[in-house]
Amino acid sequence: MTELPDSLLLQARALINQAVAEAMAQGKPAIQALYFVTYPAEDVTPEVIRAAIDTMRQATPAGRAELHFTPKPGRYVCWNCCGLRYEAIDGVCPNCGHEGLVIPMEMVVALERIEV
Ligand SMILES: [Zn+2]
Repeated sequence: MTELPDSLLLQARALINQAVAEAMAQGKPAIQALYFVTYPAEDVTPEVIRAAIDTMRQATPAGRAELHFTPKPGRYVCWNCCGLRYEAIDGVCPNCGHEGLVIPMEMVVALERIEV
């Protein structure tokens, strides 16, 4: 198994805590499904994000929830054509078709909603 970065595990734990707090606020003991959005990052793949979430939700009310991930466009800059900045899911420059450099974001995953 790939080693999970601490920063990602901390992010995952914060999101699980957020989801559990929401479920408790609604008076529900268990979470049926978790919906996340993910953003492209150079060093973090969707599989690693899923593994981090899966690790941190063990023994929580979200332990058996279905996990859903929706990729969102990231911000990129292309140095192949003219330094164009653009948003894309796959990172391909709309001008020249080369893959641009991803501009790092603070979060690579966010909680969209929960189902209780
Ligand atoms: Zn370009």
